[in-house]
Amino acid sequence: MDRERREDGARAWIAGNLQRSVRASSDPDVRVYAGGQPQRMSPYEFARLVRKLKIFRWLERFEFGSFLDLASGFEHIPYLVTERYSVPAYYADMVHQFNLPIDGLFYGKLDHAVTLQLPVLPYRDDAFDVVLCSEVFEHLVRPIEAIAEMMRVARKYVVLTTLEGLAVNRWRRILSHWHVDVRVPHVERNFLVLDEFAALFGDGWQHESLLYSPNFPASLVEAVTDQAPAYDALDDTDALVAALCRAVSEGRHGPGSLGVVVVKPKAGALVRPPRIQVDAELARWLVAKAAFEEEWTQTALGIWAALERNPALRPKDPAPDRPVAPALLALLRCPDCGGPLDGAGTGARCGVCGQTFPGDWGVPILYSSRPADGALTDKALSRLCGDSRRRRRVVRRIARRLRRNERAPGPVRKLAWRLLPSPNAP
Ligand SMILES: [Zn+2]
Repeated sequence: MDRERREDGARAWIAGNLQRSVRASSDPDVRVYAGGQPQRMSPYEFARLVRKLKIFRWLERFEFGSFLDLASGFEHIPYLVTERYSVPAYYADMVHQFNLPIDGLFYGKLDHAVTLQLPVLPYRDDAFDVVLCSEVFEHLVRPIEAIAEMMRVARKYVVLTTLEGLAVNRWRRILSHWHVDVRVPHVERNFLVLDEFAALFGDGWQHESLLYSPNFPASLVEAVTDQAPAYDALDDTDALVAALCRAVSEGRHGPGSLGVVVVKPKAGALVRPPRIQVDAELARWLVAKAAFEEEWTQTALGIWAALERNPALRPKDPAPDRPVAPALLALLRCPDCGGPLDGAGTGARCGVCGQTFPGDWGVPILYSSRPADGALTDKALSRLCGDSRRRRRVVRRIARRLRRNERAPGPVRKLAWRLLPSPNAP
């Protein structure tokens, strides 16, 4: 199927880029921090810190006992969550290499990671209090089904962030869709206006902009080289923390704002009022953790190099033949039929349909083997919209539009792309 080929293509593309990005972060000439202090802040690293700060400001307002980062990638947000709130936190990504517990055991991936494929989530209902999905929505081939699944496995809160996925108006949305080349792996393909997010998440949803350019050290629409001096000035932690607090202080949409943070508390889940007093402490902590992670990447690369030269030094535990932990299995269900999973060798086996799934290092690979039919199921619609006929109508329309956009471009459209600039270009 075309759709599956595209998902496989995206996975291979991301895995190929992993090596490159690890190398980049280990290059002393591009290091952001030195001795725990910022020395070479960049617009990219600053926006990354802003995104984390926005997410953690929301977590501060929740009451929760477990956490899942869906499509955690090379970030370690679950590690940060466990450090700060002392709750179990889980990793999940469609790229298996990201999930392996080989990048530092303290990050907590061991027995806490699953390789999966959106939109099917191989977890039981209400498996985690909080489900976070950050900067992935815009790339998903079946985003509505994926959000319905997040609502299923989250017991209390779903948090979604997307920088590119929010279109400022309908015209811009149409133009963005028209420019998507679905043949490009990992392309940004989903654009919704705010009203459509409202229809997807329904009553009680909360939202704010992800980035608000007027409160940034330099305007986000300027060329990166023109922004550089403002970021060079953030060369001590106090200055950086102050800039971060200013950047997150505004959450409005409209001119100068980019992206959206969506928070959906399920019925009965408490969201405490915001406390801006916590911002500075939270920002300082995130900066210290980012500096530590960069430092550790250097150390880890040194260790890996030494182990390559002398494999006898390699620790026995964890090892590739580690079975999936029983506590992790208890959270899972078969991605094909929803049945309970048992451990089988280094992978898992469904107790109902008998399907077996591979795995290594304690990380099961739970891709569904059922071909997706592409239709938005009534189950997903009911999960999202309940019995609201108006919302069902809007969500169905979004799903149809997104499906239509999965068609590969014809020669006329390809020619027109050369003539009209894309609004999707960064
Ligand atoms: Zn099954």
